[in-house]
Amino acid sequence: MQLIWDEFLKIIKAEAGSQVVETWFKAVCLESWDPGSNLATLRVPNQFVSRWIQDHYIELLKTHLGRLLNTHTIRLSFEISPQKENAQRARTIMPASVIHDPELVNEPIITLPLHHPRPAPSSAANPPVLVQHKSEELIISDRATKKRVGSALNPAYQFDNFVVGPSNSLAHAAAYAICENIGKVYNPLFIYGGTGLGKTHLMHAIGNETIKRNPALRVRYETADTFINDFINSIRYDRSDQFRDRYQTVDLILFDDIQFLSNKEQTQESFFHIFNVLYEQQKQIVLSSDTFPKEIHGLQSRLKSRMEWGLVADIQTPDIETKIAILTKKSEAHHISLPEDVAEFIAARVVSNIRELEGALIRISAFASLTNQHISLEMARKVLLNLNEPKREGVMLETIIKVVAKHYDAGINDIRSKKRHQDISLVRQITFYLMKKMSNCSLQIIGSFVGGRDHSTVIHAIGKVEAMLAVDPTLGIKIKAMEQDILQS
Ligand code: ADP
Ligand code: MG
Repeated sequence: MQLIWDEFLKIIKAEAGSQVVETWFKAVCLESWDPGSNLATLRVPNQFVSRWIQDHYIELLKTHLGRLLNTHTIRLSFEISPQKENAQRARTIMPASVIHDPELVNEPIITLPLHHPRPAPSSAANPPVLVQHKSEELIISDRATKKRVGSALNPAYQFDNFVVGPSNSLAHAAAYAICENIGKVYNPLFIYGGTGLGKTHLMHAIGNETIKRNPALRVRYETADTFINDFINSIRYDRSDQFRDRYQTVDLILFDDIQFLSNKEQTQESFFHIFNVLYEQQKQIVLSSDTFPKEIHGLQSRLKSRMEWGLVADIQTPDIETKIAILTKKSEAHHISLPEDVAEFIAARVVSNIRELEGALIRISAFASLTNQHISLEMARKVLLNLNEPKREGVMLETIIKVVAKHYDAGINDIRSKKRHQDISLVRQITFYLMKKMSNCSLQIIGSFVGGRDHSTVIHAIGKVEAMLAVDPTLGIKIKAMEQDILQS
């Protein structure tokens, strides 16, 4: 149950953001699941959280918990219980400085739109902490500002359990190298790649490894999101000095999802200064983003150029062998007995995202344990088929890229790379064209499969090929031959 709930939290975090998870879901747990009646029972800490979740997140719950439990008709029941265990979990989401107050333990942080009338401070013993939003403006009550801002390093993300393959070897090698020589080799290290491909894992691994090697070093992991909130609060409460100190007195800063700084002018300004101070003192800076620095929209160009000063390393979509290796490693870690043919099947089915790969593994293992069976290929087929996912799409995309690469004598990694010279660009455009024509995958999935590109790049490429086809009949013949090959593969 815990495994499924943890998986659910990961999905909600990706979809609704970490604040939603921290505020509403961390103190909840999946108590039981009855496949016969399709009834999942959730344990919630109080009536308020129960109602809030039902009013705001019921669809998310049904969709994702349903997927994880492999049912389309999930029913949910909420049991209110300020259990000891729950209270303990709730404690972990509360501001560090207030956790000693037992009355506050089960109180959620409420997020309101700014136009919402701000309730007068309540004199009740237990008033909720209020957080109000409007773009960059964020007003946080005194108690909420006490919340610990530096996110802890996640001990689950280590180099040991990071599987290295051609898709991530550069980023991995660079990440490891900086741990051996903090601030001296690649500064900053900029890691970019599509979602769910291991950027956050690598960043935590760098932090964990650095502390392991030298516990005296000060390491700070931060997402751009929390940095923005922290910055706004520092202005609001006139605590700019403390803010600067927090960020400028570290030996290693790990800045995740830097793309969220886009269009946040003032926060960028502050980030720029922090960057300069750290850089000049040869402190190590590690940044991650979903795209190459130049492609981050709404980011000052002086910041973009600084981000390229050190090493820019990408993480690509993993090939099938790496996916199998990751599945094997994850199943060992979770004590799941996963037959080889099932690992191959999952790896072929899940196209481009390691988070989804893990999700598929968890779904299958949950099904196996709920039905008291061993994992088998037949079961995996059934579980993953029921989810209405495109069946052979993963295999299809792999085949297409392989066939196109062979026809043009190009490397698959070159097609996925950011190289832009004319020959490889053409091969890439044809790959996009054939993927759109022959698979049922969305433009987004296709883009992410071919080196984490966005859908507009794919549309643009397809348009180019169509224009060429209109004037170049030999290209048409070539593409037909590739189509034949793909169908026969
Ligand atoms: P991102 O930050 O790029 O969106 P994450 O680092 O959150 O992706 O990775 C998503 C999940 O996939 C995590 O659970 C992570 O442990 C796992 N993962 C990603 N890459 C690897 C890898 N190479 N080896 C093992 N697990 C991986
Ligand atoms: Mg991440």
